Amino acid sequence: MRIYVACLASYNNGVLHGAWIDASTDVDSMQDEINAMLRASRFPNVTVKCVECEGSGEKTFHNSETGATRQDKCPTCKGAGNVPSAEEWAIHDHEGLGAISEHCGLAAIAERVKLAEVADDSGIPLEVVLEVADDNITNDVESFIRDNYRGQYDSWADFAEEFTEETDGLSGVPDHIKPYIDFEAMGRDWRISGDFHYVERDGSLFVFWNH
Ligand SMILES: [Zn+2]
Repeated sequence: MRIYVACLASYNNGVLHGAWIDASTDVDSMQDEINAMLRASRFPNVTVKCVECEGSGEKTFHNSETGATRQDKCPTCKGAGNVPSAEEWAIHDHEGLGAISEHCGLAAIAERVKLAEVADDSGIPLEVVLEVADDNITNDVESFIRDNYRGQYDSWADFAEEFTEETDGLSGVPDHIKPYIDFEAMGRDWRISGDFHYVERDGSLFVFWNH
């Protein structure tokens, strides 16, 4: 999962300057990478604290032969303690995160990364996870999906049949009777029972317990 963050000052001057950065749940680390990209812009419009010397303008240099140390000007900011930087950025591309807005912030990216990880862990397509999140049935979509996911089925009848078999609901039913059990009707009732939350997508049914 990555996002491509573009420097808007460069973009507005017809220059492509930006960086692919790893999308993560750590907003600060993403911001650090974006700040580094902005400091490297050819179109700075603000000054920011020098990261190299943390604004002091000085660096400690070590002589590896003598072991001596000396203080001198920070080579990055030339002793000024601050450096030029561009300021504005936007997400111009992304991979593995589903649909996102160019104007969404890093907090939204971090949230999306969490959902993508849940999708990965559970084997549920990210689009289905996002649909559950959009349904707003819970504040904690991650736990809901981890705890309540029942499975992926071709249809409600398929779900009703599999579930009934798995829970031993057919034990004692003679084989010649089984074909007469109406799983279609059972599935229809389950669909409207309120016991399940579900997403129907691309011919598949994804079922979650609704509690
Ligand atoms: Zn410096």
